[in-house]
Amino acid sequence: MAFFQMKKMILAWTFRTPVTTKYPFEPRKICPGSRGRLDIKISDCIFCSLCAKRCPTQALDVDKVNKKWHIDRLRCISCGYCVEVCPKKCLHLTGDHGIPTVTKDMETF
Ligand code: SF4
Ligand code: SF4
Repeated sequence: MAFFQMKKMILAWTFRTPVTTKYPFEPRKICPGSRGRLDIKISDCIFCSLCAKRCPTQALDVDKVNKKWHIDRLRCISCGYCVEVCPKKCLHLTGDHGIPTVTKDMETF
């Protein structure tokens, strides 16, 4: 009896569609209410550093002299504190998660 039950189970699992997806090659389904990833409209940034000072994970680095804004994607937890504090409203959390990071390099804008 157990043999037939096992055979039935093997057949069922052989022909059912996979529950996983080939992320990142197939776009991931966005969960409602997801905060996604942080994005910046760099043309509006005044490099005041308030976002970097407020960030609880030290994911941001602002270079006022060279007018560069850096983010460590592996540190960002999408909390949105930097979005709240930005005086120019140039930061926002997108609905998507983007391409996953595989290196510890900072992303520069
Ligand atoms: S708080 Fe806003 S304006 Fe200031 S450095 Fe950050 S992103 Fe730029
Ligand atoms: S969303 Fe939160 S963790 Fe990410 S950079 Fe802004 S303050 Fe830091």
